[in-house]
Amino acid sequence: MERTLVLLKPDAVQRGLIGKILGRFEDKGLKIVGLKLRKFPAALLEQHYAAHKERPFFKNLVKFMGSGPVVALALEGKDAIEVTRKLMGKTNARQAEPGTIRGDLGMSFSNNLVHGSDSAEAAKTELALFFPGAEETVAWEPANLGWIYSVEEELR
Ligand code: UDP
Ligand code: MG
Repeated sequence: MERTLVLLKPDAVQRGLIGKILGRFEDKGLKIVGLKLRKFPAALLEQHYAAHKERPFFKNLVKFMGSGPVVALALEGKDAIEVTRKLMGKTNARQAEPGTIRGDLGMSFSNNLVHGSDSAEAAKTELALFFPGAEETVAWEPANLGWIYSVEEELR
């Protein structure tokens, strides 16, 4: 089992799409193990996007991400990082495939609704950044877990 960090960006919250987007992850079978709505401080967002520090869009990105409430999710599942990235679709929502969150719900390269960690290393760092306390995530067993995966898939 793997964990990943997902953010529902301010555009998703302002457009009233929290429920719809959360539902996509739930419907897929990813388990929500952490969930919070916050207006995150610029310093944290700068740290989160540190890899893009030299990119021309960095300043606007941090401003956008701090412009309103964001929903942070910790999701768990087999190959959760890759599965989440696929569900999100391409960064430019205009190019994202129909059926993906960005492809179905967005039109922008910047205001593209969701963030998802892109590697195991990033997931570890980002989860520690957005869910620093041990009590902020919950290990639990969904009642339907045995129906989401087959017994051969070694759930643990
Ligand atoms: N972004 C942007 N302009 C660009 C590239 C990226 O505004 O030319 C924003 C966009 O919101 C994107 C975020 O910066 O989601 C991080 O970029 P990345 O390449 O990591 O895309 P992602 O991993 O979110 O698909
Ligand atoms: Mg990225």
